[in-house]
Amino acid sequence: MKYSLRTKLTISYILIAAVCVFLISIISNIYLDKYFQDYIIKSQARKNSEIVALVAQQYKTEGKWDNFSIQSIGINALENGMIIKVQDADGTVIWDAMKYNTAMCHNMMANMENNMYSRYPNWEGEYIKDSYPLVHKGDTVGNIEIIYYGPFYYTDSDLEFINTLNRVFIGVGILSLLLSIVIGAIISRNISKPITRVIDRAHLISQGHYSSRSNEETDTKEINELINSINDLAQNLESQERLRKQLTADVAHELRTPLATLQSHMEAMIDGIWEADTERLKSCHEEILRLNRLVGDLGKLAKYESSILTLDKTEFDLKDLVTRVAGNFERGFISKNIELILRLDEQSIRADKDKISQMIVNLISNALKYTKTGGKVIIELTGDKNKAELTIIDNGIGIAEEDLPNIFERFYRADKSRNRLTGGAGIGLAITKAIVEAHKGIIEVESEINVGTKLKVSLPKNNPMA
Ligand code: ADP
Repeated sequence: MKYSLRTKLTISYILIAAVCVFLISIISNIYLDKYFQDYIIKSQARKNSEIVALVAQQYKTEGKWDNFSIQSIGINALENGMIIKVQDADGTVIWDAMKYNTAMCHNMMANMENNMYSRYPNWEGEYIKDSYPLVHKGDTVGNIEIIYYGPFYYTDSDLEFINTLNRVFIGVGILSLLLSIVIGAIISRNISKPITRVIDRAHLISQGHYSSRSNEETDTKEINELINSINDLAQNLESQERLRKQLTADVAHELRTPLATLQSHMEAMIDGIWEADTERLKSCHEEILRLNRLVGDLGKLAKYESSILTLDKTEFDLKDLVTRVAGNFERGFISKNIELILRLDEQSIRADKDKISQMIVNLISNALKYTKTGGKVIIELTGDKNKAELTIIDNGIGIAEEDLPNIFERFYRADKSRNRLTGGAGIGLAITKAIVEAHKGIIEVESEINVGTKLKVSLPKNNPMA
């Protein structure tokens, strides 16, 4: 059974409120009982000593007692749940509540017992008989017995007080539950509403509406992060989709031109319109080379995209590798009359040598490709304990500002018509970036059109000795 977030949150609020109310009632009742019992036991002791003192005051001289006052003290005590019996020094009974009103005494005792059983069904109470001497001016002039229900008892008003308090607890409990239902419903609605909307957006995105964005505003951090992630996801999917379409268009376009040229040349030669001379065959051969290059680029891309996650790391000197790769381009630099300056420090790193080599090839070949005859390319290698930094600076054609954010995307070429002539398919930097990121490095570009380009790669050394 699956419940909505809203239902779950509301139920949680109600449960929390119910548990709190329940615990507060139980704890308060336990404490109430404890303190109330203490209070009643103490007040019984106080009442007893007050009665003893009052009765002792009723002794007049020479064994005479104020019987009338003693009786009113006794009746008053009886009304308060105490049965008293006063005797003089000889043991003669002066006043006895039992004799005065036996029925009332029995009634009162039964009432007390009932009161206690109504609150404590397993109550084990008993009648306690305390005996005190009556002292007048230092002489014992009599004795008083006080019988009461112990160790403590609740009068009707005590019970009424406790019951009222419990009714208040129940009232507060019901009110809190109702409030928790209302507040819980409001809060959970506020939380679940934006999530529901984000879900709707996610559905739209999953159906291919990548341009759909959620502009939901909430003050919940996690929901905001969710909205941002979904928007990022949509953005990513949208640009992937765009790139995919561009890839198909690019591949078709790239293939169409050489294929069309080849087709027309071949047809002309088959029809005998053209003679199959060396010049024409050479032109066909160039087109085939172009096709080959493109297919090679596509193959490389597929290979790097699938293998980029598995790095075969070894420790090597980056300076040696850069020197060797740059050496392979020497002929290209000489034929374009481009000055190549190497400023390389020794930098030992732990990385996938083949992939790093491919990265350097891509960067140097771009610098060579996009620098005009007579230009200059500087390759610098520096570093510190943790990282090595490879910088390739050229004073070539540069990259327009609006193209800069895209040059690392697959099949992106800053100037499409121009680049077709240079032969690039726009994947070199995409592969380079993937290699750098697989090594947890950073690649940055600075460029100005007609001034030059600076590409900086920063690689962690991962050197255990460093
Ligand atoms: P390509 O195969 O087209 O060179 P890359 O992925 O290597 O593809 O580069 C993407 C685009 O970035 C290139 O088409 C080019 O427009 C631009 N670019 C890369 N490096 C340089 C550079 N050093 N100078 C000028 N433009 C460059």
